[in-house]
Amino acid sequence: LLEATGVKKIFGKLTALDGAALTVGENEFHGLIGPNGSGKSTLMKCIAGAEVPTQGKVSFVNADITAFTPTERARAGMSLKFQITSVLPTLTLYDNILLALQAQSSLFDLVFSRTRGLLHDQVMTMLTQFRLANRAFDAAAALSHGQQQWLEIAMALACKPKLLLLDEPTGGMSLEERRVTGELLQPIKKHCSLVIVEHDLDFIRDICDRLTVLDQGKVLASGTVSEIQANKAVQEIYLRRA
Ligand code: ATP
Ligand code: MG
Repeated sequence: LLEATGVKKIFGKLTALDGAALTVGENEFHGLIGPNGSGKSTLMKCIAGAEVPTQGKVSFVNADITAFTPTERARAGMSLKFQITSVLPTLTLYDNILLALQAQSSLFDLVFSRTRGLLHDQVMTMLTQFRLANRAFDAAAALSHGQQQWLEIAMALACKPKLLLLDEPTGGMSLEERRVTGELLQPIKKHCSLVIVEHDLDFIRDICDRLTVLDQGKVLASGTVSEIQANKAVQEIYLRRA
């Protein structure tokens, strides 16, 4: 589904990515891990089109999308939730999801009344899936931090992407909220692949099929969870951190 190869990103004198690669299959949950500053967020941004790689190639659904804008990538079926929030706090949860959906619909769809009923159903389905239906008409600002993160994931999924990119979605969450996040993500596997950046290794081990480990802008290892757990070089960087 996704193949990024030879991705290099230079900021001034700093080489943030030095030939990094990432391959993700259909219906695969892929964890991207590594120490602080190893280039995880930069690689996610290069995939989403928020940063232009100095060098390298990104393919998505068998097409070369290296030169695509973020909007063109979204249209091709990519969606994301990064560390910066996209929730509009004064709007209701309902309106936040509706906005995310409308970004993908044409004006023609919106004025066509049959589609309005459909939009309502889609909004409520997303809110129900993320256990927020009873809060539908509350302002988003009234949510807990964890619920806001779930709302953002729901917004990112509203347009039914083929690939969802999540950069540290459980940051600041309690253990219980993390556990629920894992549960909420499971059902999307039926129709979507996931790339998730996480510092919580237990969480990532539980939900991911495969992992890629970045270290100083390079891929240190990539493989199944058990392969990565058994990898000596990976164990070393995590021991170094502990
Ligand atoms: P963390 O785990 O802390 O989120 P990360 O693995 O996501 O780290 P990146 O944010 O990708 O790391 O950063 C990789 C390196 O690139 C870091 O040294 C960072 O300071 C640098 N960097 C990232 N974005 C920029 C930018 N816009 N301009 C200059 N340097 C940047
Ligand atoms: Mg980061």
